[in-house]
Amino acid sequence: MTLESKVPAGPLDSKWQQHKFDMSLVAPANRRKHNIIVVGTGLAGASAAATLGELGYNVKAFTILDSPRRSHSIAAQGGINAAKNYKNDGDSVYRLFYDTIKGGDYRSREANVHRLAEVSVDIIDQCAAQGVPFAREYGGTLSNRTFGGAQVSRTFYARGQTGQQLLLGAYSSLIRQVDRGQVEIFARREMLDLVLVDGVARGIITRNLITGELERYAADTVLLCTGGYANLYFLSTNAGNSNVTAAWRCAKRGAYMANPCYVQIHPTCIPQSDEFQSKLTLMSESLRNDGRVWVPMKSGDDRPPQQIPEDERDYFLERKYPSFGNLVPRDVASRNAKTVSDEGRGVGSTGRAVYLDFSDAIDRVGAQVIAERYGNLFQMYERITGDDVYVDKAMRIYPAIHYVMGGLWVDYNLMSNVPGLHVLGEANFSDHGANRLGASALMQGLADGYFVAPYTVADYLANAKNDPVGTDHPAFAEAEEAVTDRIARLLAVQGKRTVLEFHRDLGKIMWNKVGMSRNRAGLEEALSEVRALRDEFWRDVKVAGTAADFNKTLEHALRVADYFEFGELLIRDALHREESCGGHFREESQTDEGEAQRDDDTYAYVAAWEYKGTEADPVLHKEPLTFDFVEVKQRSYK
Ligand SMILES: Cc1cc2nc3c(=O)[nH]c(=O)nc-3n(C[C@H](O)[C@H](O)[C@H](O)COP(=O)(O)OP(=O)(O)OC[C@H]3O[C@@H](n4cnc5c(N)ncnc54)[C@H](O)[C@@H]3O)c2cc1C
Repeated sequence: MTLESKVPAGPLDSKWQQHKFDMSLVAPANRRKHNIIVVGTGLAGASAAATLGELGYNVKAFTILDSPRRSHSIAAQGGINAAKNYKNDGDSVYRLFYDTIKGGDYRSREANVHRLAEVSVDIIDQCAAQGVPFAREYGGTLSNRTFGGAQVSRTFYARGQTGQQLLLGAYSSLIRQVDRGQVEIFARREMLDLVLVDGVARGIITRNLITGELERYAADTVLLCTGGYANLYFLSTNAGNSNVTAAWRCAKRGAYMANPCYVQIHPTCIPQSDEFQSKLTLMSESLRNDGRVWVPMKSGDDRPPQQIPEDERDYFLERKYPSFGNLVPRDVASRNAKTVSDEGRGVGSTGRAVYLDFSDAIDRVGAQVIAERYGNLFQMYERITGDDVYVDKAMRIYPAIHYVMGGLWVDYNLMSNVPGLHVLGEANFSDHGANRLGASALMQGLADGYFVAPYTVADYLANAKNDPVGTDHPAFAEAEEAVTDRIARLLAVQGKRTVLEFHRDLGKIMWNKVGMSRNRAGLEEALSEVRALRDEFWRDVKVAGTAADFNKTLEHALRVADYFEFGELLIRDALHREESCGGHFREESQTDEGEAQRDDDTYAYVAAWEYKGTEADPVLHKEPLTFDFVEVKQRSYK
């Protein structure tokens, strides 16, 4: 199958404008005839559901949580990018586009990224109008700060709670539509299958997480906004409920999974303290605006940070990357933290941490100003580690799995290769290439939901057949039966090991062999170890309770079963891509200075994988990436 990106022709900066004009509209009186399913109510899903509701479509919105407000998006701390150029420091739509293409290591579509940069400015206006309390300057204008991979200040923020405030804005709009009767929210529902009728996405099967009942919902189109799969690695900064299940079930129904090996490792997380930890905590990238990253010059130097004199410290990011210093992109910062730790210069009890030091900033602007900027983060750090940053002047941080650039393949209209299945937010692969720049995920999720999908979904509905389909169609019965069988199989195993143990073991393999740096031998080992563990899981997992009930273990088991299958695909993708790019670092492919070495002649494409069965090899489809508007070169932040 040829993957058609459907990128419109014409000059880069007018493609989207022209496309919006060229696309079909649905007349207001006809919108109420269309039913739309939105799965997921994080920033992408809530903004899409609210906007489509406002337009007059009938929307059903699903979430596994008790309220959309608890979606993982709430965790986003640092900010959201927009090319407003309020600081007059040289920003522009083109510069945001350029930084994002370069930050993604030239593995994303130019047209998508330019559109993202264009609509970024509208997002801020929309959110400010909703009452999102963005930080402001003395005179009342919106403030912003710098983030990694950029030399301009374009990150809008609401203290360290940007995601929460943006989500409250989207949620208010959503609830307005609930009140108007345009949107119906189905909380505590987990989508467990996609229903295709004549090859077109026409509905979903969900499990009611309170009663255990399986339910069928039909619609004219399905928007999947279910977030990312970082929890495959067990330990990550993601909310415990983030998962791959909905996306993987779509993949099993024919949607291609793109670039699954592009996983982001964030450099500033609180290091793991012991084996039994279930979650890692992010310390926002915004801290790198004022914090300086360093390790002792000598290995084994265990003096407290403030007793180590300046000339015995190695500010390794500032030394190696003088232009961007501590604000190099995440992949670069993470790899360098690993390198110095591997050299034995890591700090803390495990030796796998580096310092993020605020002494200079506190001396320069005072503790009060630093507290205003990062107070809630310092408090969070103290609650978790017991250490007071105002006293120690430095945090210990280490990279952790944080975000995924990979996801379901979509065309320019955010539609997957399965007609009628649109994918938004972190669940799709678009826009960030092999490495996402900080503060760009919120931008993308809201761009997709507020400003892209409302147009492209209308175009789809205006041109689709839309024959009425009821939940009594045999396709619904078949999908429901498949879900029932899978649940029954899991409950029937009645082995000895807990789901948690399996998930932890899977995460360890992934982190050790498919984590920050990867090589052929390690990836091959990981593949066979994951397969062996999957077999053991299906022989020896213990899922207590019944299907017809509230059952957290069953929920977890269903997700872990999907992680096993999806994890194999991720490893295969990492194996086949024998180049380094962005977050995917193949040790065999590095420059003399240890930086990622791309192979543009061979790998300048999106890898979109077609599922062929759990025991069968997936089929690789390639969408070539062409760069007509930027010069492709070796990334440099020096
Ligand atoms: C700690 C942390 C801090 C971050 N800070 C920033 C930041 O400062 N700036 C930035 O740009 N990005 C940041 N990110 C990334 C950003 O928060 C996410 O990429 C983004 O919020 C994802 O939004 P989403 O709407 O795509 O998905 P989510 O917010 O993950 O929402 C997914 C939704 O899908 C639902 N769902 C999932 N599976 C199912 C299913 N099977 N059935 C039904 N519903 C389902 C969930 O219940 C939820 O409602 C951060 C990420 C983390 C982990």
